[in-house]
Amino acid sequence: MAAEPIKVIVEKCVGCRLCIKACPFGAITVVEKKAVIDLVKCTLCGACVKACRFDAIELKKGTETTMDLSAYRDVWVWAEQDGGKVQSVTYELLGEVRKLADALGMRLAAVLLGHNVRSCAAELMERGADLVYLADRPELEYFQDEPYAAVLTDLVKRHRPWIFLSGATTVGRSLIARVAVAVKTGLTADCTGLAIDSATKNLLQTRPAFGGNIMATIITPNHRPQMATVRHKVMKEAQRIPGRSGEVIVQEVAETLLRTRAKRIRYVADTGTKVNLAEADIIVSGGRGLGKPENFRLIEELAAVLGGAVGASRAAVDANWIAYSHQVGQTGKTVCPKIYFAIGISGQIQHLAGMSSSDIIVAINKDRDAPIFKVATYGVVGDLFEIVPKLTDAFRKALGK
Ligand SMILES: Cc1cc2nc3c(=O)[nH]c(=O)nc-3n(C[C@H](O)[C@H](O)[C@H](O)COP(=O)(O)OP(=O)(O)OC[C@H]3O[C@@H](n4cnc5c(N)ncnc54)[C@H](O)[C@@H]3O)c2cc1C
Repeated sequence: MAAEPIKVIVEKCVGCRLCIKACPFGAITVVEKKAVIDLVKCTLCGACVKACRFDAIELKKGTETTMDLSAYRDVWVWAEQDGGKVQSVTYELLGEVRKLADALGMRLAAVLLGHNVRSCAAELMERGADLVYLADRPELEYFQDEPYAAVLTDLVKRHRPWIFLSGATTVGRSLIARVAVAVKTGLTADCTGLAIDSATKNLLQTRPAFGGNIMATIITPNHRPQMATVRHKVMKEAQRIPGRSGEVIVQEVAETLLRTRAKRIRYVADTGTKVNLAEADIIVSGGRGLGKPENFRLIEELAAVLGGAVGASRAAVDANWIAYSHQVGQTGKTVCPKIYFAIGISGQIQHLAGMSSSDIIVAINKDRDAPIFKVATYGVVGDLFEIVPKLTDAFRKALGK
């Protein structure tokens, strides 16, 4: 039978219950003055080990690695492109990751997959990449999970990056998780902060946890590459330095890597969404306070006058008042516009998780105690049906529309 990864040394345990208080997962009980760990609930986080004053809990995480970490070098960014246009999240990553590469004394590489995308490589170098690994094949013209993941996995195995990052976009999340599994390393999703531990050279990967109530910093000490996805709009884009150049390394791609079980038939654009929520500088969001789907017209009118995008709370989406693609929050999109209007939205933690880093938040709610006012820059207590049309008119006049 395999040894248990965590165990209570009963001779040392005095039943003091400190471990119960420390365990965030409710995995420990005390039975007959001895701690008992429920291995189904336990995540091996080690909080109980630290809390025990009697060294009565032993944790074997199996963290020993046979991996030769010294064989790994350089910091990689997956360059997401669509139709030959590099996505802005990639430039955000390059801006931040340039600092990490400099701190490590390593090169910053962009990994570019596609067809006829050589011009993207030039722009990636102008935005800070020292080198670009380019896999250019007709089969890679459009994103598809299987061939993209296979090609990236092959590149990682061949070149062994120290760190490998991607934007936490729909495509990035889907792709990079496959690569992490294939190369048997960890992956931290949705980071909002990255830094280097100067002592260990480990990547400190920070992301909100428990519905945004705490910030967790995660490390991957025993495996390489250290992989993470990074949220859109939390980092500043790298400035373009015209004429800055580097090395383009064209990669051979084996036919076997390009096999896929899925076939792309056609691309159907979501024509209902006039402004991309994740890219928008102004977002006007509506919630259950609108009362019925027709009233979303008020939100759409204000958004149209401001040239902004329409967002929504999950309550509005669940009620089928608006499509899921507009949902902001923990299970929707994370946004960081210059101005966010929350109209008839109470401001539950799951909604805040997706919008609280907006520069300016304007809340309109008839309940003065609504939690949204705690994060709002400007709060208007009142009936949205009176306030929003007046606001739309005032903006229309002020903007000459
Ligand atoms: C695992 C999980 C994930 C979730 N993910 C998300 C997510 O991604 N995004 C999200 O939004 N939610 C999410 N939720 C749901 C979240 O908890 C809330 O239920 C939801 O955000 C509430 O939406 P709301 O603010 O529109 O509705 P309510 O909480 O019902 O608030 C409606 C607000 O409108 C105000 N109002 C009513 N009439 C008027 C009026 N005439 N004028 C002005 N104000 C008025 C009310 O005072 C109230 O504050 C999630 C929940 C769970 C459990």
